[in-house]
Amino acid sequence: MTKEKYTKLEHLDVHERYWKHCGRCELCMDRKQVVNWRGSPDAKLFVIGEAPGRDEDEIGSPFVGKAGRKLDELFYKAGLQPNEDVFIANVIGCRPPNNRLPRVSEVKQCRERLAWLLLIVKPTALLLLGGTAALRIAGITAISKWQGCPTTVEIAQGRVIMQYPAIATFHPSYLVRIGDNAEIKKKMISTIKKAKEMACR
Ligand code: URA
Repeated sequence: MTKEKYTKLEHLDVHERYWKHCGRCELCMDRKQVVNWRGSPDAKLFVIGEAPGRDEDEIGSPFVGKAGRKLDELFYKAGLQPNEDVFIANVIGCRPPNNRLPRVSEVKQCRERLAWLLLIVKPTALLLLGGTAALRIAGITAISKWQGCPTTVEIAQGRVIMQYPAIATFHPSYLVRIGDNAEIKKKMISTIKKAKEMACR
């Protein structure tokens, strides 16, 4: 096996330094910082949420607030260690004002940032959290119908076309909002377990 010249962490460091000054869309006006990733760069499973919220904007890592704590709980229940077994990012890197949904133009402008994270980490499967990630990454329009159903997504960066097995589930903030509903929680844990298997194939 040939030795890579730079480690993934070094690539991620360059990535962070490049994108921290991003001004491609108007979200740069209100953000405190660009929120890139947390977890392990060596993870096989790449998890994609929607957008940073207030806590993430403050701290600079994805899923560090209430939804993030719920997400970690689900990972543990599915047999995954959040700091070792997953790499977590969002469709967009900056907090939309009042946590509104990301606009299509913002998602487009941020596509390259996400694509580079994928190119660096080289995951073997994607887990998409919530309607925005499911729609913008996999074209899934009805998350409640398609959650838990494996699919394949293609992501292009320049001339490189990457293909990943992917699966979507509900957003953990939905689970928080509906009071930890046992049936939804069970479905989410089962989908995360499936994602884990897909990543290990
Ligand atoms: N919700 C998301 O989709 N991403 C975060 O990082 C936090 C909350």
